Amino acid sequence: MPIRIAIIGFGKIARDQHVPSIAADPRFELVAVASRNQKCADAPCFADHREMFATMAGEIDAVALCTPPTARLDMARDAFAAGLHVLLEKPPAATLGEIEEIERLGRESGKTLFASWHSRHAAGVNRARERLHDSRIRTLEIRWHEDVRKWHPGQEWIWAPGGFGVFDPGINALSIVTHILPMRLFVSSATLVFPANKQTPIAARIAFAGPPGALSADFDWRCEEGESWTIKVETEEGSKLELFDGGARLNIDGVAQDLPHSGEYPGLYAHFAELIESASSDVDKAPLQLVADALLTGSRSMDPPFE
Ligand code: NAP
Repeated sequence: MPIRIAIIGFGKIARDQHVPSIAADPRFELVAVASRNQKCADAPCFADHREMFATMAGEIDAVALCTPPTARLDMARDAFAAGLHVLLEKPPAATLGEIEEIERLGRESGKTLFASWHSRHAAGVNRARERLHDSRIRTLEIRWHEDVRKWHPGQEWIWAPGGFGVFDPGINALSIVTHILPMRLFVSSATLVFPANKQTPIAARIAFAGPPGALSADFDWRCEEGESWTIKVETEEGSKLELFDGGARLNIDGVAQDLPHSGEYPGLYAHFAELIESASSDVDKAPLQLVADALLTGSRSMDPPFE
């Protein structure tokens, strides 16, 4: 019998990725959607997740929380109380304190908690991880440059407190490097650029602990041309890895690697099914920790108002 799953927060990512990935995976069946203003044509819809849990008691096994991160703690608490497995979109919560509480609630309920990082399922990521697992890292260069107007039109929550700003995409790069590098990264300094009329950064640079200039990340949302989602790593052994397009393409020592054609979200749902099957959870807070540390230590500068 498939895992009967409901989606909470029916916005862009729920429509573009969760619905088709659930439909394509015979281990899942979409049975309901809860969203205050949006409707899904493929399943019964509710304006409130508590109403959905009450009306469909015994008919839902799992939920995917696809709201912005600030809304998730109460929803996860209600879901575990209803005896459901929980998948969190990235970033898993608005704060480290919240994800720790969600993790505790999950443990207490005995249900699966999957704090997902979709970029870890990009085609080149596991190959890069295998290649680097016993390497010593000499340099790391993350360049995540995109046009916020193109990718986040009308999404005011990304500019509100708890909305992450440029770290909303930037945390995807951090989810990859915390997965593929054989050592832990620490923020040594950061610079954050805030539009004068917004609460979250539009650009950020991080220097990680290590030799000066060796390990860095550069996130920028003001890029109208030449967008780039690239991670470059050089090892002390002389190898050079380059992940392009958010991890979808991998070059090793200049040679393009032949990679499986699996998509990120099908891989993410396959992992969720395995976790439920094996009664285990997967919660890695490392990417969120790095964002929190950059926000704690970063020096701030102002950009003109963003319109
Ligand atoms: P979105 O288009 O704004 O959709 C989120 C939906 O959640 C909204 O449509 C809204 O639906 C509901 N919502 C918003 N604020 C809420 C609140 N305070 N309480 C309850 N529900 C709320 O955002 P999205 O792009 O889908 O992003 C959602 C999450 O997915 C984010 O964490 C983002 O980082 C992640 N993600 C997005 C993308 C992408 O390409 N967009 C890619 C990967 C991951 P109602 O008003 O109907 O409740």
